[in-house]
Amino acid sequence: MRLRRCAVCWRYTLRTDKCPVCGGDLVNPHPPSRMLSESELRASEGVERG
Ligand SMILES: [Zn+2]
Repeated sequence: MRLRRCAVCWRYTLRTDKCPVCGGDLVNPHPPSRMLSESELRASEGVERG
């Protein structure tokens, strides 16, 4: 199941063509903006070495 989100009224919908409420364009609510690098993942673990 893929949820889409309206770019106009920000309602979630199962439609893929347009918003059923206002007819606005749909966008992906979870865009793959960036990938975490390995160093960032290690840093997030909070491991400190003396
Ligand atoms: Zn809408």
